[in-house]
Amino acid sequence: MESEKCAYCGDLTVLPFHCNYCKDPFCAEHRLPEEHRCVKLSLIRATKFSEKKIIRDGGPNKPNILKRFFRRF
Ligand SMILES: [Zn+2]
Ligand SMILES: [Zn+2]
Repeated sequence: MESEKCAYCGDLTVLPFHCNYCKDPFCAEHRLPEEHRCVKLSLIRATKFSEKKIIRDGGPNKPNILKRFFRRF
């Protein structure tokens, strides 16, 4: 079985998810770009919110803010 460490939390994950954007492996919890603070996230945001300045430093402990934010897509 393939197992890799989640690039965000370091958990050893069997059959990890690979981010569509940065191609890094992540556990189920951190597979979404907004959950692992994807290095490409600023680019994703830049294309969708080019006119808005986004607060970047939400930190991993504030998923609710990010979730609320991303529901607007
Ligand atoms: Zn993880
Ligand atoms: Zn990513």
